[in-house]
Amino acid sequence: MSFLEYAPAPESTAILDLKPEYGLFIGNEFVPAEGESFSTISPATEKEIARIANASEADVDRAVAAARRAYDKTWSKLSGRDRGKYLFRIARLVQERARELAVAESLDNGKPIKESRDVDVPLVAAWFFYYAGWADKLDYAGLGGNPRALGVAAQVIPWNFPLLMLAWKIAPALAAGNTVVLKPAETTPLTALLFAEIVQQADLPPGVVNIVTGAGETGRALVNHPDVDKVAFTGSTEVGRQIARSTAGSGKKLTLELGGKAANIVFDDAPIDQAVEGIVNGIFFNQGHVCCAGSRLLVQESIHEDVVERLKARLSTLRLGDPLDKNTDIGAINSAEQLERIRTLSDVGEAEGAERWTAECAIPENGFWFAPTIFDNVSTSSRIAREEIFGPVLSVLTFRTPAEAIAKANNTPYGLSAGIWSDKGSRILAVADKLRAGVIWANTFNRFDPASPFGGYKESGYGREGGRHGLAAYLKGAK
Ligand code: NAD
Repeated sequence: MSFLEYAPAPESTAILDLKPEYGLFIGNEFVPAEGESFSTISPATEKEIARIANASEADVDRAVAAARRAYDKTWSKLSGRDRGKYLFRIARLVQERARELAVAESLDNGKPIKESRDVDVPLVAAWFFYYAGWADKLDYAGLGGNPRALGVAAQVIPWNFPLLMLAWKIAPALAAGNTVVLKPAETTPLTALLFAEIVQQADLPPGVVNIVTGAGETGRALVNHPDVDKVAFTGSTEVGRQIARSTAGSGKKLTLELGGKAANIVFDDAPIDQAVEGIVNGIFFNQGHVCCAGSRLLVQESIHEDVVERLKARLSTLRLGDPLDKNTDIGAINSAEQLERIRTLSDVGEAEGAERWTAECAIPENGFWFAPTIFDNVSTSSRIAREEIFGPVLSVLTFRTPAEAIAKANNTPYGLSAGIWSDKGSRILAVADKLRAGVIWANTFNRFDPASPFGGYKESGYGREGGRHGLAAYLKGAK
């Protein structure tokens, strides 16, 4: 029990005006799907939020046809300046509806409201503002002499940052002049459907943005559709591999943003209290459902005990519970399947001999929860040091020299992100130079900005999202 108790401070859901059932969003209208609908639930209560349409192959075909028509008839004929106006309009509408979007995201995904309110939704608006600014400047972006859109983009996203991943996909695609069909994850379709309402409000030409809901089969039908020119996928490495195989030789341009197992390296000259905050943010932000999470802590041997003690003390103050409560630090795990995966891998960690420590906290009766957990003395060959757990679980390893830290950090099939904590700028630069990771943070972690490219090496995928680089993925001939 902590010495300071907090009164409940739940954000009201009264701001939401949800429909009991949602259709597919095709040609700026909500239309019924062919098949049976499915329900989306709150992972904190397991209660149904709404019924969601399950798009069949024929439904996907209708959506792609709408996107193609819109591309041929309207969107490809607009000037960059006019496309930019629509994107600015979307960005402003996201800001206007920010509170509603944050509440819907926390309800459907289980993430704490302070994160959806202060991180996810502001970044969504920032992404649209940023790419709105690029729409009329493509000729000056160093992307070739006459950068042209690809056509129709098929976009499939995961459940960990539902609306933010949508923004990462849709904003650059539209700025570059493409039309899109996007499929949100089956456990978190709600904010994509609210975004569809924003598309209507912004009065986009019908068919420029289409949203098809459903599970893996819908995603497969979308990425394999013969009339799409570009596939953008964010999700697991396993599904990414399947997509790479099925699109090979099809002429479709492909970007894959996959898993990660980032090293967060703490040297003995680091500001320890700041580093502890960074470690906590690195792996417990969004319940650790973060592809670039700092899930492997590499700490210099001389400060190992001190850092782990301070970490435990800090984790003991985190509050787990109702995602809509403004005081909540750790929300719900997104689904029963994900919870099962986290439990299984944690049991493996214990069986392999790592020391398990779990923060004491009351677990609510309903819903899916996992208390913040640390595994100490993890060996490099252990599964919890190699596989992505995608949950609030930190593996702690030690090192003695910078060379050993680099070798251990790079000893992973992934290469998405990394963190370095040290007082010496020269050491940070020397180590960063040798890490095989797409994004490296120095004395901070999990910072995102639309101007900064994001993406991985090795099994973390290929292509970059964000920045000028993010436009290249949606333009002919651009690299
Ligand atoms: P997932 O691969 O199971 O699902 C992702 C999406 O793909 C979902 O919308 C799903 O319905 C769809 N899908 C499933 N099978 C498909 C198929 N055969 N063809 C086409 N689409 C299919 O992943 P997940 O469990 O939802 O998400 C977690 C994973 O996403 C983690 O591995 C995480 O690291 C990764 N991720 C990566 C980034 C990044 O930018 N690199 C960002 C967020 C999440």
